[in-house]
Parts: sequence; structure tokens; C-alpha cells
Amino acid sequence: MMKFQKIYIEISDICGLDCSFCPSMKNTRGKMPLWLFQKALKDCSSYTKLIALHILGDPLKMPNIREYLAIATNYNLNVEITTSGVYLNEFEFLLKSPIRQVNISLDAVMEIKSSHLRKQIFRKIFDFCRTRMESQSEVFINLRIQKRAQNKELLNILQEEFKMPISLDSNTRIGKKTIIVVREPFLWNLESAKSHHIKHTKGFCYALQTHFGILANGDVVPCCIDVGGNIILGNIAKDSIATIFNSNRTKSMIKGFKSGIIVESFCIDCSFRKQFDWFIV
Ligand code: SF4
Ligand code: SF4
Repeated sequence: MMKFQKIYIEISDICGLDCSFCPSMKNTRGKMPLWLFQKALKDCSSYTKLIALHILGDPLKMPNIREYLAIATNYNLNVEITTSGVYLNEFEFLLKSPIRQVNISLDAVMEIKSSHLRKQIFRKIFDFCRTRMESQSEVFINLRIQKRAQNKELLNILQEEFKMPISLDSNTRIGKKTIIVVREPFLWNLESAKSHHIKHTKGFCYALQTHFGILANGDVVPCCIDVGGNIILGNIAKDSIATIFNSNRTKSMIKGFKSGIIVESFCIDCSFRKQFDWFIV
């Protein structure tokens, strides 16, 4: 049976922010109803041990996030949360099972215009980190920053808080299971992808082999990059994962990537995929 390292599930595409580096198509699908989440997990739990509650949106903006976590617990699934930290008000529950990792996008916080609000949010994030570092929790915290020249101010904020050198050249461990993770800047390829008609060019991607995604409306997509649902492979409300992975479209993508060939035009300009280009020269 197929097994995936992780399945991305978007419980809502609402985040309340408007980051310049993010596609502007948020809040079109809304919230994934609990019944649909339950149905998705019932099927997913045979294929993975880990779900990531993110594609677009901020799962912590959901007032009933604990109900989603309870369902994950019922299916014995570990949960990864990706958040901006803006809605990080209570955080004790984030340091317990089923949560395994919390990723906080510090770049999203830096996009907030009001410096007063930014400070307040950083304070909450740093308090969360300190609570985690002083606890026996098994949860990992990744503070994510992009390798961008304009992140000097962010580095200063972090160095002042954690009293240690922090650079954009490598990750920095700031305490127990708490790491600042530097990532290459990422650009979504939503617009340029539409203009491509040429398929079957060279390229590799791990999508559909190590992971896939489910949008808040139940649409199944190959990856967390496809935030606009350009490659809809099925819908979890009516199709089983087995059926979706037996479809010609899905099989053709998997077969293509395995032999270093892109079969979906949407994948041609994907900057995430391009990091694997050295595989297939
Ligand atoms: S990057 Fe994240 S926090 Fe920022 S607008 Fe996009 S979904 Fe919202
Ligand atoms: S190439 Fe990009 S868009 Fe295509 S499946 Fe991979 S990550 Fe998704």
C-alpha cells in the first residue's frame, strides 16, 4: 500500500493577513466542515502518520481548532501546524499530542504594517518558544525565515531576544527542539503557469510520492504549492484516496516525475520543483 510522509490538509484558507509574497486568492474556499475533515482523516489514516494543517490560511484562526485536533487524535495521527503566530493566544494545547511540530512564519509577522502590533506578536511567539524550551514537551518549534536581504531587521530582533548570533547562512538552534530555519525565498508560479501549453518537459518533484494536499473544499491536489487548485485530482467528499491514485491523471503525473518528466503545465515554472533540477541534467 502507498505510504506518504505527510498529507497537507487545509482546514481553512483564511489567515487575516495579506503578505506580499503570498497569492491573493485567500478566503475563497472558507472553512473545511468538521464532517469533511473527519471523512478525510478516516481515509488518510491508512496512508500516513502525519498531517500538516496548512496549504493556505492559519489553522490557529479557527476558534474550534481543538475539535479538529480531537479528530486527529481519534485517528492516531500526528499534527503539524503552520501559523503566522498572530492568533497564538493560548498555547499550552500546542505543546501536547497530537501536535508534533509548530512552524511559525516570521516573514508573515514582518509584513504587518503596525510596529506596535508586530512587537506584540513577536512577544507572544517568543513567550511560546520559552515555554516550550522550559517544558518537557516533545513538540518541535520551527521559526521560519526566508533568505532575503530585507530580513536584517528580523535578524536583529531575534539576536536581541535570544542573545546569540543568528544569520541567514544556516539554521540556528535556540533551545530544546526550537530552531530558526532559514529557507530560500519562494515564489508561487500561479500566473506564469497559465500561459504554458507545452507539456512533457524535463523535471522532477516528490509530489504524490511523499505527500499530497487536500484543500478546504475537499479537492485533492498534488502538493501544498497548488493553492489555487490548478491540478484537481478528485474530491475527498466523494472519492477515496485509492480511487484518486488510480486515476489516469494522477498515475500519469507520478509516472512522469519518476522518469524525470513533467506532464502538467502548472508544474513547469514551479520554483519549489526547480530545486530538484540538478537531479535530471
Ligand atoms: S503567507 Fe501565510 S500568513 Fe501571509 S498572507 Fe499568505 S497564508 Fe496568510
Ligand atoms: S512541480 Fe510544483 S506544482 Fe507541480 S506537483 Fe511539484 S510542487 Fe506541485
